[in-house]
Amino acid sequence: MAAEGAVVITGANRGIGRGLARDLAASGWPVALVGRSLEKLEAVAAALPAKARARCYAADVSDWEAVQAAVGAITKDFAIVYGLVNNAGITCDGLFVRMSPADWQAVLNVNLTGTFHFTRAIAPIMMRQRKGRIVNISSVIGLIGNAGQANYAASKAGIVAMTKSVARELGGRGITCNAIAPGFIETDMTADLPEKVKADMLQRIPLKRFGRAEDLAGAVRFLLSPDAAWITGQTLVIDGGMTMGS
Ligand code: NDP
Repeated sequence: MAAEGAVVITGANRGIGRGLARDLAASGWPVALVGRSLEKLEAVAAALPAKARARCYAADVSDWEAVQAAVGAITKDFAIVYGLVNNAGITCDGLFVRMSPADWQAVLNVNLTGTFHFTRAIAPIMMRQRKGRIVNISSVIGLIGNAGQANYAASKAGIVAMTKSVARELGGRGITCNAIAPGFIETDMTADLPEKVKADMLQRIPLKRFGRAEDLAGAVRFLLSPDAAWITGQTLVIDGGMTMGS
């Protein structure tokens, strides 16, 4: 499909964000890659297909000033900012009764406030354009909860609620806002889970394998496409069937 403008992807230097950046760039979307390390982002950009248009911007998503500076630079480099994929995220797991306020806040700051920061900085640009697509990366954990992840679950549930509110506010300006809720995806985030936890999880996945970033890319591409023009405020679960009926 013809790209309508650039797509901003946060946390694009590894994992799901890098996978989405590769897929969207290969599909012809100009991409604005955001992450904490410019060097790592530039390595990702260098490995994109030669015809890809990619620029890199250093920003910690939890830092409002840094986000505003990055978005200012993005608007200088790209005439139209069509898409935003809020992907940057962290975990800081621990049982609820032992969870420190610092661990609670750290996860909320990146996952939920970071999503707010980028959406808040880019929404006015999309409003002026009278078009735009926002795709937030939530998680099945935000829908069903998980022992040891109260902070992460709350941040991802918050993203679902923010998605609906933004969809309601910005729909009249031709902007859609949706979320995807992935299940278990093989990245650094899940690499260190104990083998027993992974084996139990695999048992619960009807499609009998863990997901990869590529398993999410088609849905993100679809939500950016004209075919999804009348879809907003939705959260699409992509988990190999793990949580159906929950
Ligand atoms: P990774 O840990 O592999 O990658 C996380 C990415 O987020 C990195 O690029 C990281 O950059 C970036 N990031 C972290 N903190 C910040 C910050 N403060 N500012 C800017 N960038 C930051 O995780 P995944 O790729 O697995 O996860 C991507 C998203 O998908 C997250 O939101 C996660 O919650 C969600 N998700 C993941 C699932 C999974 O099973 N893997 C399942 C469901 C949802 P850096 O290298 O600088 O740390």
